[in-house]
Amino acid sequence: MSLGRTILLKMADSPFLNRQATQRAFVKRATRRFMPGEAPEDALRAAQMLKAEGRGTVFTKLGENIAVPADAEAVRDHYLWFFDQLAASGLDGHVSVKPTQLGLDLSYDQCLDHLFVLAARSEAIGRTFWVDMESFAYVDRTLALYKALKERHPQVGLCLQAYLRRTQADLEALMPIRPIIRLVKGAYAEPETVAFPLKADTNRNFFDLSDRMLQAAASGQCTPVFGTHDIALLDRLVARAKAHGAADRQYEIHMLYGIRDADQRRLRSDGHCVKTLISYGSAWYKWYLRRLAERPANVWFVGRSMFT
Ligand SMILES: Cc1cc2nc3c(=O)[nH]c(=O)nc-3n(C[C@H](O)[C@H](O)[C@H](O)COP(=O)(O)OP(=O)(O)OC[C@H]3O[C@@H](n4cnc5c(N)ncnc54)[C@H](O)[C@@H]3O)c2cc1C
Repeated sequence: MSLGRTILLKMADSPFLNRQATQRAFVKRATRRFMPGEAPEDALRAAQMLKAEGRGTVFTKLGENIAVPADAEAVRDHYLWFFDQLAASGLDGHVSVKPTQLGLDLSYDQCLDHLFVLAARSEAIGRTFWVDMESFAYVDRTLALYKALKERHPQVGLCLQAYLRRTQADLEALMPIRPIIRLVKGAYAEPETVAFPLKADTNRNFFDLSDRMLQAAASGQCTPVFGTHDIALLDRLVARAKAHGAADRQYEIHMLYGIRDADQRRLRSDGHCVKTLISYGSAWYKWYLRRLAERPANVWFVGRSMFT
């Protein structure tokens, strides 16, 4: 892992820096590169513009590791309200949640209950309900949550991380339940014992895992979603999809709002199913530091927005 990435991911865990950054207008301005605004209405408005280009949307309200049960209930209630907005909007819009934002640190059972409520509402309006993958400490519990959800609600998807050594085995174990998987490289600082330290190994694993999912997709056993901005890797995967006989509609490509936007448009106009993940909310500090860590050159945007 590069030094810049390590430092930025360490900074993400600092409550002091969190307080400082969120009070500075120029940092808030810099976040606009990756999020249209803090209000859910900002996210919905941005999604209408993407809809005009044929792009779908996945929404997430920022926040993680809540500390009291009432906060988890408030997040659940927010999303219930948000599903109503989605149903009325006519958007091809879906929701993705972090288990620790729904109280996984406090109670597995309570978190699962909240997820059941949200997955049921998502299903009622015909959307895919997504579960994010957080740091390594949560992987076993998140997989258990996913299996329980998928049993009742088939249209639930899970994020898996290609940088983890265990993911190949996790993917195989999920295959019997016909998983919907968003594969990403992984955004957290993990030790070498559990994650590949070299980017080349993560990329190789991403390709191998995707290849396996595409093979399964051709027989309807898995729905793969590639959550990456790595265009060279995507080009290779599109070629593999053809080789496996997996049609364009049997996989999707998801990217983050504000990143590689021209490529997102191009992939859409080439006929791919492209969805853009839009984040909103005021708890953007940790999430924003992870975006900076993915490309430390982004730090210059923070500096520049001090003067604009
Ligand atoms: C839809 C979606 C959902 C995600 N959900 C999760 C999740 O649940 N759990 C999790 O751990 N991670 C999640 N991630 C983040 C993911 O793990 C990576 O950290 C992130 O996608 C960067 O990796 P990459 O695949 O784009 O490849 P990289 O090799 O990091 O980047 C490829 C190219 O994309 C561009 N790029 C990538 N990131 C940035 C950036 N921040 N700013 C500017 N350019 C950039 C650069 O041009 C770079 O060369 C998600 C990502 C996406 C797209």
